[in-house]
Amino acid sequence: MNSELVEEVKTANITGTMVAYYFICHRKLWLFAKGLNLENISGNPDVIKGRVLHESRFKRENHKEITFDTVKIDFLHYDGQVYVHEVKKSKKFEEAHTWQLKYYIYLLQNKGVNCSSGVIHYPASMRKEEVHFSTQDRELLLQAMAGIKGILNSPLPKRKTGRKMCSRCAYFDFCYV
Ligand code: SF4
Repeated sequence: MNSELVEEVKTANITGTMVAYYFICHRKLWLFAKGLNLENISGNPDVIKGRVLHESRFKRENHKEITFDTVKIDFLHYDGQVYVHEVKKSKKFEEAHTWQLKYYIYLLQNKGVNCSSGVIHYPASMRKEEVHFSTQDRELLLQAMAGIKGILNSPLPKRKTGRKMCSRCAYFDFCYV
């Protein structure tokens, strides 16, 4: 493991949402990290659908909303080892969701928990994706965490991306109106 990178990211207080946003939009990450959490107040239909999904699905899971350090995991399963489960509304940001889940695995492993896999659930499309955490993932994740820390330390947000997805983003009004 790259010990310099580990030291670099230790003090960043990175949340799972920040990891996901790093892979979606660096501007969104900066705005969110500075306290402008429009996901919570936006009337954006995608945001509302996501919230309803989280509140209504997997009600019978025993180990739900596990909170530690800076993160909250949707639910955990135990079957020889610990499996991390996350519920998402759409596969559109699957790469971001995958790294968010890998970040949870990374944190659990750092606490000595036997965990190297998880599942992302997409109930709206009745799909699920298995995620496995490798040694190489650990290095890539540490690099992403160093990148996140760099963005958080920046005095200004990144430029807006001007991508198609902006029109469905909770930050659209802030960026474009
Ligand atoms: S509207 Fe576009 S540029 Fe602004 S935060 Fe969202 S994705 Fe990023």
